[in-house]
Amino acid sequence: MPLTTSEIQALDSAHYMHPFTDHKALAEKGARVITRGEGVYIWDSEGNKILDGMSGLWCVNVGYGRKELVEAAVKQMEVLPYYNSFFQTTNVPAVQLADRIIKLAGERYSHVLFGSSGSESNDTIVRMVRHYWTTLGQPERSVIISRKNAYHGSTMCGASLGGMSGMHAQGGLPIPGIVHIEQPYHFGLAPDQDKDAFGIEAAGWLEQKILEVGADKVAAFIGEPVQGAGGVIIPPKTYWPEIQRICDKYGILLICDEVICGFGRLGAWFGSELMGAKPDLMTFAKGVTSGYIPLGGVVVGKRVAEVLIEKGGEFNHGYTYSGHPVACAVALANLDLIEKEGLVERVRDETGPHLAHCFAALAEHPLVAGAETFGMVAGLVLMKDKHQHLAFDEDLEVGMICRKHCFAHGLIMRAVGDRMIVAPPLAMTKEQIDEMVRLIRLCLDATLQELKERGYM
Ligand code: PMP
Repeated sequence: MPLTTSEIQALDSAHYMHPFTDHKALAEKGARVITRGEGVYIWDSEGNKILDGMSGLWCVNVGYGRKELVEAAVKQMEVLPYYNSFFQTTNVPAVQLADRIIKLAGERYSHVLFGSSGSESNDTIVRMVRHYWTTLGQPERSVIISRKNAYHGSTMCGASLGGMSGMHAQGGLPIPGIVHIEQPYHFGLAPDQDKDAFGIEAAGWLEQKILEVGADKVAAFIGEPVQGAGGVIIPPKTYWPEIQRICDKYGILLICDEVICGFGRLGAWFGSELMGAKPDLMTFAKGVTSGYIPLGGVVVGKRVAEVLIEKGGEFNHGYTYSGHPVACAVALANLDLIEKEGLVERVRDETGPHLAHCFAALAEHPLVAGAETFGMVAGLVLMKDKHQHLAFDEDLEVGMICRKHCFAHGLIMRAVGDRMIVAPPLAMTKEQIDEMVRLIRLCLDATLQELKERGYM
């Protein structure tokens, strides 16, 4: 007999700790049990069909239920389910995937170091850039500059690189040698300023911080091309070229966290390509396997690889699952699918522009003060009075009210404060985008009505 929803919820409350969750509050409601996925839809244990506007957690890029990925995993498990790459050994899917990723990333890169997640990849980066500068005889160059409201993972280094104050508040973070500058959030910080001028000013905060720390102490700058978990913060187009110029000026390594933006989400294989940035290192995870199996890693540019390989000796770092053959085989099948279906080009030329068009129309809604998209990520800002740029009181948790209506209407949309965001599967069709936007509109209407009834507007 399969377990009933309430039996699963009881086990969940009794034994299962969720990421980023207030368990006491969850136990009162009971977790929603997701049981199945197909295409852009998931189903819960009560049989409700839900349109997944978040691709799981920004990762199910090819959509659910793709047999090709299942078959790749089964085939590899039968041949060699696991072997490590520690003791001068290697395996076929790992080297094939490294080669494939380097071809996609371009000639600036030469090597890939694999792990199993975005957090691990960003942990790797911290040790790698410090090892790089030490190898070059500059061990004092150890400070990494990141940004407020960035998300780089949940491990000690990942959360330290991240700029989420709530995460820093637990566990004594950030670790030493990681400092933050303000994010390039035009709408939130300087909506009246010219956007391009703001982009230059925001990049200038990096230069200020470099001078404050001392250029000879700074190892690297890290940023997401588009900040995802921070609420889909799309920087002005002037921002990244100026960041690049500043990094070049001081010889600082540039790292792009491509965990969300990589593998097609913005309409290019890597988001940094579209931003006018030439990172020395890129971290990735999520979309490389469309989330079917855990895999992440670091794409290492020649500038770093040459030093580490020629002079660096042993880099005392790596994971049991670095280059896991099954994960790499699934990634290869996933990249085959993305290529065969032309998903990157589709996002760039068809579905991305269509999503942008639909979101521009949503900006007319009385609750929506701003709507932005880039490829297949999009965000809406809800405001009490959009004409006066007047935000809701934070305590009202208006984003969470909207999210509740999304659940009730069979749509997964995420709330980050009062920013409502989506990142649908890249395989989503234009018709399915229309369906998603219809649902979003219904949810906005329901939210508006509830806010009026409660006297919040
Ligand atoms: N970097 C970015 C940009 C992310 O969005 C995330 C996860 N949302 C991570 C790193 C961490 O990845 P993981 O949860 O796989 O450790």
